[in-house]
Amino acid sequence: MSLHDLLIARIRQDGPMTLTDYMTECLLHPTWGYYSTRDPFGARGDFITAPEISQMFGELIGLSLAQSWMDQGQPSTFALAELGPGRGTLMADILRATRSLPGFHAAAKVILLEASETLRDVQMATLKDHNPQWISNVAELPDLPLFLVANEFFDALPIRQFLREGAAWCERMVGEANGTLTFGLGPAAPQTALQDRLSDTRDGDLVERRAPAIPILTILASRIAQNGGVALIVDYGDWRSLGDTLQALKAHERVGPLQTPGQADLTAHVDFEPLALAARAAGCAHTRLTPQGIFLERLGITARAQALAKGIGGSKLDELVAAHRRLTHPDEMGNLFKVLGLYPPQAAPPPGLEP
Ligand code: SAH
Repeated sequence: MSLHDLLIARIRQDGPMTLTDYMTECLLHPTWGYYSTRDPFGARGDFITAPEISQMFGELIGLSLAQSWMDQGQPSTFALAELGPGRGTLMADILRATRSLPGFHAAAKVILLEASETLRDVQMATLKDHNPQWISNVAELPDLPLFLVANEFFDALPIRQFLREGAAWCERMVGEANGTLTFGLGPAAPQTALQDRLSDTRDGDLVERRAPAIPILTILASRIAQNGGVALIVDYGDWRSLGDTLQALKAHERVGPLQTPGQADLTAHVDFEPLALAARAAGCAHTRLTPQGIFLERLGITARAQALAKGIGGSKLDELVAAHRRLTHPDEMGNLFKVLGLYPPQAAPPPGLEP
């Protein structure tokens, strides 16, 4: 038995499934799901993320969160939270960078939202000195000021895809033919949630919708509006999605999204507009969507790289220069990745971001 066989059997019995069901099974199936079965990060894994490229990423995020904490009067207890912490590297770098800030660690309760038991174990090994607490749903966040980061979390939440036909939409579904998974289209139907996309799309255009992100944003934004705090949401994507951005990565190579279910990372671009609208509706302010390269430059990544460069040479120095370039250059992650900040309307926006 494999996830592939299981999906074929399910489709034969119940008919084609939405991409949301397909992605959820592939990523989080308890036995065969991609995140449930492995630690996918790093050079030998399937993909590499910003905190795994360099400690500078997490250090600067840490300083940004700490500055917001000071701007908001240094609340004496707060949730220092991360969504989808992977190996725990980003949180470890945040904690190291803020170690000598008086009162910050004593006030912080480290809270991690993680679905995968395998990755919870890795995070425990990395962060055990800080007594992290795991939650499975953002509704379990404590009723405290919330200082939160999410890097490459939203891109792993499942999407649905719709192809425009006149004023209606056909949903792209996963079906099967002769034991192979295939894409197909459902019947044309109006979609209330896509009403505002009729003005910027044409017949035959494909748009994506990530419904599970909305209730998450609503909860984060209401906590921040009521209790104070900030959220830094970092991901690849743009203000609005257009076209098919579903991608599967295996051993740093792209593979077909239906080719190896459960064995490749499956993600799609994040469209930030619906996230920003949900935050606003919950009474929270949000910053302008800012390219990662600009955000990191404003936080001082070049000065940090120069400081780290003192006292190293040879291949270590080459690696540092390459990491700086990879995180910030527009041809690498600098422009593809964007940052959205959430903050209480009466507070200052997070450093590095504009209202
Ligand atoms: N932020 C990390 C890892 C990004 S990968 C980094 O930058 O390196 C995505 C992370 O989100 C993984 O830890 C994965 O297990 C987790 N994840 C994916 N879907 C999730 C869900 N629905 N609920 C909770 N965690 C999820």
